[in-house]
Amino acid sequence: MSTPTHILGFPRIGDKRQTKFALERYWKGKQDKQATLEALQAVFTTNIQDQIDAGLSIVTTGDFAHYDLVLSQAVAFGIQPPRFEGAETLDTFDRQFYFARGRDHTGKYEDKAAWQMTKWFDTNYHYLVPELEAEQSFDNVDFTQIFKQVADAQAILEKNGKQDTPLKVVLVGPVSFLYLASSKAEDKLSHLDKLLPVYADLLNQLGQKGVQWVQMDEPILSLDLEGKWQQAFERAYNGLQQTPPELIVASYFDTLGNNCHLACNLPVSGVHIDVTRTNKPKQYITQVIDHLPSHKTLSIGVVDGRSVWTTDQTKAQELLAGAYERLQDRLWVGTGSSLLHLPVDLASEDVPSELQGKLAFAKQKLKEVVICGQLATGDVKADANATDIKLTPYNDDAQVRQGVFSERYAKQQDKLNLPLFPTTTIGSFPQTSEIRKARSQWNKGELSDADYKTAMQAEIKRAVDEQEKLGIDVFVHGEAERTDMVEYFAQYMDGFWLSKNGWVQSYGTRCVRPPIVVGDISRPNAMTVEWIKYAQDLTDKPMKGMLTGPVTILNWSFAPSDAETRDILRLQIAEAINQEVGDLQDAGISIIQIDEPAFREGLPLKQADQPHYWSEAVKSFKHSASCANEDTQIHTHMCYSSFHDCLNHISDMDADVITIETSRSGLQLLDAFKNDGYHNAIGPGVYDIHSPRTPDSSNMQVVIDEAQKYIPVERLWVNPDCGLKTRNWEETISALQNMVEMTKKVREVYSA
Ligand code: GLN
Ligand code: ZN
Repeated sequence: MSTPTHILGFPRIGDKRQTKFALERYWKGKQDKQATLEALQAVFTTNIQDQIDAGLSIVTTGDFAHYDLVLSQAVAFGIQPPRFEGAETLDTFDRQFYFARGRDHTGKYEDKAAWQMTKWFDTNYHYLVPELEAEQSFDNVDFTQIFKQVADAQAILEKNGKQDTPLKVVLVGPVSFLYLASSKAEDKLSHLDKLLPVYADLLNQLGQKGVQWVQMDEPILSLDLEGKWQQAFERAYNGLQQTPPELIVASYFDTLGNNCHLACNLPVSGVHIDVTRTNKPKQYITQVIDHLPSHKTLSIGVVDGRSVWTTDQTKAQELLAGAYERLQDRLWVGTGSSLLHLPVDLASEDVPSELQGKLAFAKQKLKEVVICGQLATGDVKADANATDIKLTPYNDDAQVRQGVFSERYAKQQDKLNLPLFPTTTIGSFPQTSEIRKARSQWNKGELSDADYKTAMQAEIKRAVDEQEKLGIDVFVHGEAERTDMVEYFAQYMDGFWLSKNGWVQSYGTRCVRPPIVVGDISRPNAMTVEWIKYAQDLTDKPMKGMLTGPVTILNWSFAPSDAETRDILRLQIAEAINQEVGDLQDAGISIIQIDEPAFREGLPLKQADQPHYWSEAVKSFKHSASCANEDTQIHTHMCYSSFHDCLNHISDMDADVITIETSRSGLQLLDAFKNDGYHNAIGPGVYDIHSPRTPDSSNMQVVIDEAQKYIPVERLWVNPDCGLKTRNWEETISALQNMVEMTKKVREVYSA
């Protein structure tokens, strides 16, 4: 006996990143649509078959987005921003890529600004932000992609003789969909009345096709919601109650908090809760059951959709048995969230002996859900035990640097002697095909360590020579030796394990391979000193030592989700980085940049938890820079997020110089400085490195003209808004030439 079991979603990249490779070939015109669709279909089929083989009692589909689920749904709803005029002649497959990438690979339509991309709650996944007009209509709906998944899943079930297995379709629910969209209307909720009939129509058709369940993802139920959004839930679901299909409203990534009563009492058949991201799961379950009307189903997500560790069966049984006693056949067991955030399959990994049996990727989690369903009814006894990592709390108090900014900056200036508006770049230079080739040969053992080193040194020399020619003031070595700014450091630290094939979708076809925290983190040896020293010896200009900060390393790794453990880990990483700062400084490096692009990302979803996060994040950053002498200049860099709401915490980090993305967020960020001030030095990114077009210097100057209104010119730097590794050398040189030209001009204007 078992409770019904299901998952909330599965990775769609494929165990060998087949989706990525197929789509990229397609966009480049190297593979036709037919072959591309077949490649995607093979991944889809495996995803359904794996659920069947694992023995899940409900099979889930609809989540197989080709780029992003929010985007697919927006396209299905006929949303098409006016700048993409004509795009309706593309089928929905091609149109979604045009919106997401701003480029129509069929060549029919010209490049346009791509849809904005934003972090999916507190994960490292990015969704595409649907753009709604003030008076948005949803007339041109096209549900073919969703219906195709249903028909295909049904066919696979039938082939397995499982036609009686209930099928569940995943949709982003209407309230979260609107919440996550951007809109020209004054009130986003004004779209709800027009959107609901679209959902009703879709649900109705799904019902006719024999779909028993629809999982309405409403992750915003985990946020602190304003009253009007809470009311919108009631309005929306009152309008959607009709069976079949039955609806299950899914929350995840945090508890329901103040939305508990609301969620439990929506007129739907069931509610899903994620109990993997609270340290009081038992109380949480009790609270929800207490609120739940006695005819409703409760799906309990005990298998963590964001953890690579096996589920603790003893704990799971304890939680589920209690719930089963009260709910009986109204209990479902599932994953906390979608498994999208996990690598696909552990099978191809060489797992070290001390980790064997302790790890589970998405495919392994399917089986875990099935076991948990049996644990709930008491049909099997808990077997696998806790695999939580054991950490030694970081005992030494976190340290802070000596000196106050104004005095430090003066001492640094005495040593560095930089001109007004010093120019610099963010760290990486183009990752050329030669670099990638050398690295891949080295990985395969075709290139010796010595030859690899020589090849990378040649790249560093090239970067130095180019900067010399350009007349940049503060140099970088170009990061040729780094695949990824987190993975690079993780491989040199104890306490991390790096998988070979543990890819996770970050956005579209971009995948990342997050390191896995397996124990106490420390740094046995220097990680960057040799490279930086080599680069510094090539020039008289100051060479920046380039490090990734503790907040970013932790946020972009697989690590336990509880705040207490994360606080310990962050400080352990901070100590490792601090030791590296010390070694760089001893090697004669006088400027060290500690990048924190993910500084804001780890922010907890509930406001009540946020102050603690900020203070710990700031504390660990400061510790990582704490051994810097007063005349060693500490830089940091941030990008990818909007920072308007956390400038005070950024100030608290007390870096001497921050280089920050401002060009895409317009100049709003500078506006924020007007209000709150910024007391240290800042390099507002003067151009967007994401664009292949050469930015012209007058646009760059606007940023400086604007910035000097709020920040004294003595504290302003000039730099691009992010690293240059995705650009080629030609683009890089012409953009930087313009930047240096512009700087000469503003020096004349403002030194007067
Ligand atoms: N130093 C890194 C680079 O230039 C920073 C990357 C980032 O901000 N994401 O590539
Ligand atoms: Zn950046």
